[in-house]
Amino acid sequence: MTSITLYGGVNEIGGNKILLEDKGVKLFFDFGQSFSFGNDYCYGYLQPRSRIGLLDYFEFNMLPKIKGIYSSEELSACSGFPYTSPKIHGVFISHCHSDHINHIKFLDPKIPIHVGHGTKTIMDISEVTSAFADYGEEHNYRLFKSGDKVKVKHIVVEPIHVDHSIPGAYGFIIHTSKGNIIYTGDLRLHGPKGDMTKEFIKRAKEANPVAMLSEGTRVTEHDPEASNTSEALVESEAKKIISNAEHMVLADTAIRNIDRLMAFYNAAVKNDKFFVIDTKMAYTLDMLKDKIDLPNVIKGKHIKVYFRQMKSCTYIEKDYPLWERPYMQNMVNAKWVHRNQDDVVMAFNIYKLFELVSIRPKKNSDYIYSMSEHFLEGPDNAEALGVRKNWMEHFKFKMPEKNYAEIDNKDGTKEPVPIHKLHASGHMPKEDVMNMIRTINPDMVIPIHTQNPKSFGQFHKRVVLPEIEKEIKIR
Ligand SMILES: [Zn+2]
Ligand SMILES: [Zn+2]
Repeated sequence: MTSITLYGGVNEIGGNKILLEDKGVKLFFDFGQSFSFGNDYCYGYLQPRSRIGLLDYFEFNMLPKIKGIYSSEELSACSGFPYTSPKIHGVFISHCHSDHINHIKFLDPKIPIHVGHGTKTIMDISEVTSAFADYGEEHNYRLFKSGDKVKVKHIVVEPIHVDHSIPGAYGFIIHTSKGNIIYTGDLRLHGPKGDMTKEFIKRAKEANPVAMLSEGTRVTEHDPEASNTSEALVESEAKKIISNAEHMVLADTAIRNIDRLMAFYNAAVKNDKFFVIDTKMAYTLDMLKDKIDLPNVIKGKHIKVYFRQMKSCTYIEKDYPLWERPYMQNMVNAKWVHRNQDDVVMAFNIYKLFELVSIRPKKNSDYIYSMSEHFLEGPDNAEALGVRKNWMEHFKFKMPEKNYAEIDNKDGTKEPVPIHKLHASGHMPKEDVMNMIRTINPDMVIPIHTQNPKSFGQFHKRVVLPEIEKEIKIR
């Protein structure tokens, strides 16, 4: 028998955990963490006790109780759930976003985890630069690249590269005994590597699939990212904002969104400005430079690396961890940025705002928010936007003429915030998902990574609405 069971990614964006079973062989595709993970029982520092392993997670059904997937260490405190040797044959990870990879930390290290070369590099970078990165005990990693045919027992898995908001993203063509199954992972056509997604769609169509698991992040009537178009447009708009800027431009971006960092780098270079990045970004670009064509962060003419001031105030080597030190050759500090601010575009984020106290931006500087609008506006984000607003007003940032952020007041009115909004989604808009499904034309579509699985009925005559932990038979 061949079947698919979803343990996450059902009626929600992210948290994908897809179990495929075919003639006794079991594979997981992604093992991610929901964005709403733990919301009902955790709060701030109120978190499951990591020293107790999975006990707390199981109590509140935060992780599925499946035998033969978790490590003995994680199960040591779970008296009613003894460790058994692995009952699954492998895990394939589509890309390195938390909603697809974060829960591998609980898995038995004996289970092979198949990841793309880029994903493994990003995991290694995160373990150096982030205090929060935790992929668990050293797993049995197997690396793949686009077009490989990875054989697990009788099943052959073909990863095909796709364009997404992180390098090294893949969709999969899975050859089972009952025919081919497609899993899209997360993908888009409107990024700089849209051709890779086109190639995936072409190969998926040629596979004549019996089933297709399709992401549908933006399959919704009210797409908050509808005004966004392409990464190319982000770059050209960034060029305009920078060329009109009187002083410094701060660009609030996600560190792993390399396309976006490069859009701002290119826009800065076009305007003959310095692009200032922090040490984490420098390390990330440096480690990825063999895989992607990226500027040299040590010798680049237009790139500078910002070092934060430490207690000694002298910017000496021993104040910084070893991995940061190579970039001191290209170091700038708050004083330098202050002096040169009319020629600076600085990659930034909300957690760096206190650096502005040392940098002292001039009145009418520009702040660009360039991440998903899911995390900017609306009631869930009101607090963070309010904090940004206070900072922008304190340092008298410029109010953009158009595309500015707004705070929703309780009386229904909106209050403008001096922040430019400039972003392109990492996901296909609804029309592209529709065209992709119609082109690939599988026998059956299973919508995942979407809040609106029912809307997929508009794209295909046979849509199977998944239910959590409920087996879907293939043929
Ligand atoms: Zn995702
Ligand atoms: Zn993603």
